[in-house]
Amino acid sequence: MSALVLVGVALVVQKFGGTSVADAERIRAVADHVARTRRQGHQVVVVVSAMGKTTDELLRLADDVSRARPGRELDMLLSSGERITTALLCMALADLGTPAASFTGSQAGIITDTTHGRAKITEVRGDRLRQALAVGQVPVVAGFQGVSVARDVTTLGRGGSDTTAVALAATLGAQACEIYTDVSGVFSADPRIVPAARRLAAVSFDEMLEIAATGGRVLALRSVEFARNHGVPLHVRSSFTWEAGTWVKGEDESMEQSIVSAVTHDTTEAKVTVTGVPDRPGVAASLFRGLADRAVNVDMIVQNTSVRGTTDISFTVPKDDLAVSLEVALALAPTIGATDVLADPDVSRVSLVGAGMKTNPGVTAAMFETLAREGINIEMISTSSIRISCVIHTDAVEQAVQALHEAFELA
Ligand code: ADP
Ligand code: ASP
Ligand code: MG
Repeated sequence: MSALVLVGVALVVQKFGGTSVADAERIRAVADHVARTRRQGHQVVVVVSAMGKTTDELLRLADDVSRARPGRELDMLLSSGERITTALLCMALADLGTPAASFTGSQAGIITDTTHGRAKITEVRGDRLRQALAVGQVPVVAGFQGVSVARDVTTLGRGGSDTTAVALAATLGAQACEIYTDVSGVFSADPRIVPAARRLAAVSFDEMLEIAATGGRVLALRSVEFARNHGVPLHVRSSFTWEAGTWVKGEDESMEQSIVSAVTHDTTEAKVTVTGVPDRPGVAASLFRGLADRAVNVDMIVQNTSVRGTTDISFTVPKDDLAVSLEVALALAPTIGATDVLADPDVSRVSLVGAGMKTNPGVTAAMFETLAREGINIEMISTSSIRISCVIHTDAVEQAVQALHEAFELA
């Protein structure tokens, strides 16, 4: 067990993901665990996701009835998934004699901006939860949702229950935020693709941010940002084995500084290339202003050096934003003087993340050599001080992850 265990009488936030509450039996198992944590003398605030694949099913239903899918109504629909879980878990806790009370995001005081579908938390008013704790109840909060400053229900983006949990942990001053999921921690690669992946004992906030940003969906990116900004230690662990998992916390001496800690992959982005644009000031500015004005989240950007005064600009965007991005680029093409706009939805990103990269040159070369040996072509490259990412064809992504995991001896 890690050095960071709950000491004395602690307040702990426990978050349970979809698989962990997928059916009645799982909900009773979760109730057991919450009741046991209480018997150990700790105060518990619980955050739950929707049961199993409920969110996906609700999204399909919305697709079946509507092409427009107004954001306000979609959020009202999706937020219902986590509400179901809160009520059922409170009932299961009642059977164990553990007093509990369910709260929607709104009731829990999660205030957000008005961006439906990916709202940002602007304020957390924890008073109702504090009152519940004071009278000995376990507050069970619906994750992934809040209420906007315009008093509409909002959702926080896929995986957003993690963010709810960390935001509450920060506001209530919890000693730790436990994220219970279907794997036993943060691994050196997605265990679904690399069965030999190793569980990491501890990961720094900075490394976890890069892992989450590059496809390691075990924690939502925003939840890690929140945890880092407020210094909330996270413990990612299994709700099936209940064993100790991975601590995500501020960097300290006890952490091993691996050169490479994890290889991640992301298949959710697409590539857009604008060709033959004149190499003069203002071209990139108008293109990316146009995309920003349509709320497109541009990720990697590559611009070639110009040949005879023209250049190509490639960038990646979430696949969901591809249509809008093409619309923007095609509309701007005549004004900026571009010859063509090309879309490639079949790209993926593989990345290596490791705090030790800062002081160890050569990782980039070794990564490129590994991909070359596998005959995998690199289409785009981007780096940070502790990460290297390559965009490759989606067909090769599993092969790339497995080869890199082996080449860097991460097992
Ligand atoms: P939950 O519903 O509990 O929030 P998620 O599906 O969001 O669970 O996240 C857990 C999943 O994340 C795992 O089943 C695993 O396949 C995936 N995953 C991807 N990369 C990693 C990684 N590096 N370590 C652990 N899990 C990972
Ligand atoms: N139920 C939501 C989703 O599937 C939120 C979450 O589980 O964190 O994305
Ligand atoms: Mg999740």
